[in-house]
Amino acid sequence: MIQSSAQRDSSCTLFAFEEKVLDLAESLVSNTDQMPDGLLNGFKVLRDAYNQSYRESQRLLRISDRLQLDLHRANQQLSEQTQQLQKLNAQLHEEIHHRKALETELRRMATTDELTGISNRRHILELGEHEIRRHRRSQRPLTLMLCDLDHFKAVNDCYGHALGDNVLRHFAQLFRAELREGDIAGRLGGEEFLALLPETGSREGLQAAERLRQRLEDSPLHSSRGLIRITLSIGVATHIDDEPLNHAIARADRSLYRAKDAGRNQVVLDSQNCVTDEPNTTTTTPCESK
Ligand code: GH3
Ligand code: MG
Ligand code: MG
Repeated sequence: MIQSSAQRDSSCTLFAFEEKVLDLAESLVSNTDQMPDGLLNGFKVLRDAYNQSYRESQRLLRISDRLQLDLHRANQQLSEQTQQLQKLNAQLHEEIHHRKALETELRRMATTDELTGISNRRHILELGEHEIRRHRRSQRPLTLMLCDLDHFKAVNDCYGHALGDNVLRHFAQLFRAELREGDIAGRLGGEEFLALLPETGSREGLQAAERLRQRLEDSPLHSSRGLIRITLSIGVATHIDDEPLNHAIARADRSLYRAKDAGRNQVVLDSQNCVTDEPNTTTTTPCESK
C-alpha cells in the first residue's frame, strides 16, 4: 500500500527527498483527467517501483541500525572482557612476583646460616668446590682458614646460650668485615667457621688470619652482662696441586688443633705449606717442615 507523506513519519528528515518525490508522484497520478491512460499507468508503475525501493531503503536502514546496536553491545562486552583480562594479568604478575620472592627466600634459607646470616655449611662447601675448580684452571694460589672460637662452651656455661648466640653473631660480623670482597666465608657448624681466600698464598693467608685473630681479641662483645672477651684459633692451609677440597680442609683442621694444643688464640700454617723468608714479613707462624 502506498503511504502519503502525512502517514510517513514527518520527524524523519533522512528520507525527505524521497518523500517529496513520492508526494509529487502522488499528486501527478491523482490528476487523471490531464493525462492519457498509458502515461498514467506508466507513472503509477514508476511511482510503485520508487515507493518499493524507498521502503527497501528504510528496511535496510533498520537492519543497519540493529547491526550497529549489536556491534555496540559486542564492543561493550569486548571492553569488559579486556578489563577482566587486564585484571587477571595483573593478578598473574603479582603471583609471579610473589613466587619469585618466595623462591629467592627459599634459596636464601637454603644457603644461609640462620643464626649468623653468613653462608651455611652446605653452601660454603659448594662454593669451595667451585673455587677449587677455578683454582685448578687458573693455577693461582688459594688459601683456607679454619677458625674455631676458644673455650666457647665456657661462654655458654657462664653467660647462657642466648648470649653465646650473640657472640657467634658478633664474630661472624667481624669475620665477614675482615675478609676481602672476593673471599668466601661461612659457618661450618657450632663455633667453627671456614674462609677460602682466592689469589692468596701462604704468607698472605697467614697475615689475613693473624689480622682476624687480633681483631677479635681487640673487639670484645658489649653485652647486658658487660664485656665478653673471646679468642680464636685458626688453622691455615694453602691448596696443593690437585688435592680435593676435603683434603685441604683436613690439613687446615690439623693445624687448628695444633693451635689449640699450643695454647689457643693463635694461627698455625699446615706443615705441607711453607712461607719463605722475605723482608718485611709480618707472619707470626714459622714454616713447619715435615
Ligand atoms: P675449644 O677451645 O677446644 O674449641 O673448646 P670449646 O669449648 O670452644 O669447644 P667445645 O667443642 O667443647 O664446645 C663447643 C660449644 O659450642 C658446645 C656447644 O654447645 C656450643 N654451640 C654449638 N652451636 C652453638 C650455637 O648455635 N649457639 C650456642 N650458643 N652455642 C653453640
Ligand atoms: Mg671451640
Ligand atoms: Mg669446635
